[in-house]
Amino acid sequence: MEELRKRCEACTACPLSQTRQSVVFGVGPVPADIVFVGEGPGAQEDLQGEPFVGAAGKLLDDMLSIIDLGRHNCYITNIVKCRPPQNRDPMQEEQDACIGYLEQQLRILQPKLVVCLGRIAAMRLIRPDFRITREHGQWFERGGIAYTAIYHPSALLRDPAKRPETFADLLSIKKRVNQ
Ligand code: SF4
Repeated sequence: MEELRKRCEACTACPLSQTRQSVVFGVGPVPADIVFVGEGPGAQEDLQGEPFVGAAGKLLDDMLSIIDLGRHNCYITNIVKCRPPQNRDPMQEEQDACIGYLEQQLRILQPKLVVCLGRIAAMRLIRPDFRITREHGQWFERGGIAYTAIYHPSALLRDPAKRPETFADLLSIKKRVNQ
């Protein structure tokens, strides 16, 4: 994983390399039974080089604690490892350029469960026409790994009305973790 990290930190395969401060590769134990995948780093993550810091990161920590997890026992990363300017969605070409890093991370981590945080990760990892509003909390088997998607913590900060649904999804994840 450290070799992969070094390669990723030197990557210039897409234009996001020109505007980034840091490559945000991912954090957590190796291997890991459960992996959380967001869409891409934001401003704070870009500055600190860590995924999910700031307000959304604090909420993710609270969500992890609901399922008896913390950053010490799950892996956290993103579809693209460099920040899209103005926090726009990562473009298809940027995702295509970067997805190999995540695929290699998953091969090394050998997780049982992958939780997509938000629509972009779910559309990339579960199905291109994934509808987060209708399909969050459902489970999908892919190559021996169980995938699900929940709302991105930033979406929950913008719209707290989504939190009860996410709480139910977290309980479903907790059940799977303990199986
Ligand atoms: Fe390389 Fe991914 Fe960063 Fe693009 S986003 S420069 S592919 S590490």
